[in-house]
Amino acid sequence: MGLPDIRIPAELLPGDGRFNCGPSKIRPAQLDALSAVAAGYLGTSHRQRTVRDQVARLRRGIAELFRAPDGYEVVLGNGGTTAFWEVATFGLVRERAQLASFGEFGQKLVDSVTAAPFLADPSVRSAPAGTVATLVAEDGVDTYGTPQNETSTGAAVPVRRVGDGLMLHDATSGAGGLPVDLTETDVYYFAPQKCLGSEGGLWIALLSPAALDRAAEITASGRYVPAFLDLTTAIDNSRKDQTYNTPSLATILLAAEQVDWILGNGGLDWSVARCAESAAVLYDWADRTDYTTPFVAEPASRSTVVGTVDLADHVDAAAVSGVLRENGVLDTEPYRKLGRNQLRVALFPSIEPADVAALTRCVDHVVGQLA
Ligand SMILES: *Cc1c(COP(=O)(O)O)cnc(C)c1O
Repeated sequence: MGLPDIRIPAELLPGDGRFNCGPSKIRPAQLDALSAVAAGYLGTSHRQRTVRDQVARLRRGIAELFRAPDGYEVVLGNGGTTAFWEVATFGLVRERAQLASFGEFGQKLVDSVTAAPFLADPSVRSAPAGTVATLVAEDGVDTYGTPQNETSTGAAVPVRRVGDGLMLHDATSGAGGLPVDLTETDVYYFAPQKCLGSEGGLWIALLSPAALDRAAEITASGRYVPAFLDLTTAIDNSRKDQTYNTPSLATILLAAEQVDWILGNGGLDWSVARCAESAAVLYDWADRTDYTTPFVAEPASRSTVVGTVDLADHVDAAAVSGVLRENGVLDTEPYRKLGRNQLRVALFPSIEPADVAALTRCVDHVVGQLA
């Protein structure tokens, strides 16, 4: 069945129609900064000063943005968060982990750890999509892990320690848009194609002294670790403002621009407030509109960086997203495997709160026309 031909009036449209949860909107100023340096930067050696200065700038900016406590280090490597799950499996879990699974991304780390023949099966704390699972102190567990923000469902948890083990937070979609006190975690890891509005392919981790020690301990234990996934190698390279193998230079520069943009506007408090403002626009609309319901029932668990809104059965969400797409308003479809009659909207710092308001007006318009 084809989509009905619905033209959204220009005055209703957002200034920028990109609402994807990653890769996400890249601000034009980031691209301008990239083109301004491109000729002397892109296509040059990542072992030389020009590129290493940008890596240094990114590492410094991230430490400042997240107010890294003394002894924490910014470490980076290639392969995105999906590679970091394997890095953590090989290089951070000593014997047994307890992991939270309340969506696709949390489950992926569970799968990696479960598949590792040198580790005990993890203790898994599960909760249905749209809710959150909480971790609890448990004997015999040396590593705890949870997503900060489950991008597949739009549910988020506060960053808080449990027990004595190493604490890991997958902050891929939260870092830069959700609050964090790094003393509450040992490994705050993410990739820059979400709140940092950069490209994919890189992982970045803030490691506490305990995490740095754990990495060294596991390497010294003689466990087999593939070179590409060796955290101690990544730590050594990062200290020299390099990566083990060739990174995307564009990704690094775009991320550094975004970090400096957030810092220039007042830092993490500013970006957290900006995302919260966008989220309030979305959820207030979803609460007061008769055909919409926030998917995450518990208001305290509703993410302020990824919003999910269910539509009533009589409204076809796929048709709504399809018509929006025809009109240049992109990627409001739900996470593909969730299979709900839903809209999912990125609320990352780059996205203007006014554009989220415009999006809600566009949805109302399309739903009115579809009826
Ligand atoms: C996007 C995302 C990932 C996957 O990141 P990649 O860089 O594509 O591997 C992992 N975890 C969360 C929470 C995400 O949002």
